[in-house]
Amino acid sequence: MTQKITGHTELIGLIAYPIRHSSSPEMHNEAFQKLGLDYAYLAFEVGNEDLEDTIKGFRAMKIRGSNVSMPNKTVVHKYLDKLSEAAELCGAVNTIVNDNNVLTGHITDGIGYMKSLEDAGIDIIGKKITVAGAGGAATAIEIQAALDGVAEISIFNRKDKFFERGEKTVKDINERTKCKATLYDLADLDKLKKEIADSYLFANATGVGMKPLEGQTYIPDINFFRPDLIVTDTVYEPRETELLKMAKKAGCRTMNGLGMMLFQGAAAFKLWMGKDMPIEHMKKVLNIEY
Ligand code: NAD
Repeated sequence: MTQKITGHTELIGLIAYPIRHSSSPEMHNEAFQKLGLDYAYLAFEVGNEDLEDTIKGFRAMKIRGSNVSMPNKTVVHKYLDKLSEAAELCGAVNTIVNDNNVLTGHITDGIGYMKSLEDAGIDIIGKKITVAGAGGAATAIEIQAALDGVAEISIFNRKDKFFERGEKTVKDINERTKCKATLYDLADLDKLKKEIADSYLFANATGVGMKPLEGQTYIPDINFFRPDLIVTDTVYEPRETELLKMAKKAGCRTMNGLGMMLFQGAAAFKLWMGKDMPIEHMKKVLNIEY
């Protein structure tokens, strides 16, 4: 990839720590080049202690925007002027847009998940889904699904530090949207089986299936699944988790987390550029199959 940086080139940032492993710079720079946009996307190793100064710097330099990843996602809102509804409900920001020095925080992870389903021709609006997880990825998916018009969400999480966050998510969804949400303990496997049985889709949004939990799943047997259930995983490393292998064996349609990753980037790109990311080109170049 060649890109000519000139005096006109503008900057889009990514602030997180650690961040050198991220595929976002490759994705966005490829899209800028494909569309002939004079921007460069660069990753900066910034943690919580330098966050306020970094945002001040963004304002001073009038940069168009930035992505935000951990550990800054749940902290950066303090230094911004406005939040999208989803970012406010999630308590997290992964995208900053600078409009004439007004900095707005958005969360595009949930939008990315919903768009990846749409791209695959899967329609969950008005239907019931079951989601495992109450962390960052799960909350974004649950909130966006509720805002977009999913009828019912059964959420399962183990009784760890994320359970309380799940309680808040359920309360927010029930108070602020028309969706009905309920939280259950992931250890209650009878309940999990029952809720999956009348769901259109089951989503894993926990880290189970990815290192250091690679090769693991909390689903005890294949009978939790039926052929017309759709099973998705936010994990994309490995491409096929134990959960997706099991679901495939049961005859389910499955989808890994690559689509969510691509479309969360596309949603941020659209917010900054006002243009659609060239999705089919990106899938080819980044070797994305889901
Ligand atoms: P997080 O730390 O915020 O949340 C972790 C979640 O996993 C919690 O719900 C926690 O209860 C659950 N969990 C952890 N260990 C568990 C275990 N042994 N058994 C059952 N549940 C367990 O993390 P996150 O940012 O929400 O990420 C979760 C997964 O989603 C990761 O694998 C991450 O790579 C993936 N992710 C994918 C995308 C994408 O674009 N595809 C985006 C964000 C995250």
